[in-house]
Amino acid sequence: MAMTRTLDGFVPAYLLQQAAILNPTNTSLIDSIGITQRLSIAGRAPLHPALRFAVLAPGQGDRRIFDCKGLERLPGDKARHEGDGEYAAFPLVNDAYQFHGDVRRFLLEVLKRNSLDGKGLDLIGSCNYGKGYNNAFFNQRQMVYGNGDGVIFAKFIIRSVIGHEMAHGVTHHTSGLEYQDESGALNEHFSDVIGVLVDQFCDNVTSAAHHWLVGPGLFTDQVKGKALRSMIEPGTAYDDPKLGKDRQPAHMKDKFEGWADNGGVHINSGIPNRAFALFAKAVGGYAFERPLAIWYATNCGDNRVGANASFQDFADKTMVHCATIAPRQKNNLKEAWGEVGITVAG
Ligand SMILES: [Zn+2]
Repeated sequence: MAMTRTLDGFVPAYLLQQAAILNPTNTSLIDSIGITQRLSIAGRAPLHPALRFAVLAPGQGDRRIFDCKGLERLPGDKARHEGDGEYAAFPLVNDAYQFHGDVRRFLLEVLKRNSLDGKGLDLIGSCNYGKGYNNAFFNQRQMVYGNGDGVIFAKFIIRSVIGHEMAHGVTHHTSGLEYQDESGALNEHFSDVIGVLVDQFCDNVTSAAHHWLVGPGLFTDQVKGKALRSMIEPGTAYDDPKLGKDRQPAHMKDKFEGWADNGGVHINSGIPNRAFALFAKAVGGYAFERPLAIWYATNCGDNRVGANASFQDFADKTMVHCATIAPRQKNNLKEAWGEVGITVAG
């Protein structure tokens, strides 16, 4: 039922709700949940004429960045499209242009994938959306970026955030992992892997040297927090009276079993996140080489997991691909899954 469920933005609704309760005078927090829901529903409506050509025609992943100028109207005014010079009126447009290009280059050079759908889907981004909208959102057609309230959230045009959101498009076009319970947490997990690895690739950083943070720079300096999530140390990304504490578990024994957050899709993703980071560190070198090749085959290849995969199904399938992609690393992979409480054979 994934297509009838409203999609979340980069900042999950449960966290915005929690922050709204802790900061009752900051109405931008609760407003942002409503805006994301509206964007999600609007994403299923007929396409705006300005986007129709861009989405339907196979292309080369051309960038089309728009400026909403503080209005809640998509796609907004043309700001910087592929090949255009710098856009002066709203400088974050240029960051979005750069980062959309970084994700495109990562998909093409590392994964040999032509944009999100494998057919050169154009990369559309609308910046400066609304007043104090606290999220970045991908509706399967385009990215939408708010500016944040400036109190808790500093900005959303961040490379790992864009990599994360666009990877939802890749999963949508491949395994289609259901956005609920463990399969939903795997969908979130794969997006975190791509978000962080785009950073490692663009900055030329090895597994050992990287911070493994998803969304560094998201929070203002008034928040005690490094990022939205830590892949290597889930549960340690933030701890602040304005937000609460990062709830991600790092082990199956602490898995969240409630109904909130679609059964903890943004919470339990900490478990496979840590397994991946541990495995990549054990292999050494660049995580976007063999470790990513195993994960990409598992989520997107011909022999991939089903849409309802459990953590166990996913872990078992990584072992199958490890046997051909990195046979000498099978023990490392088995140990990494074991560290988070998942036992695999082989
Ligand atoms: Zn996500």
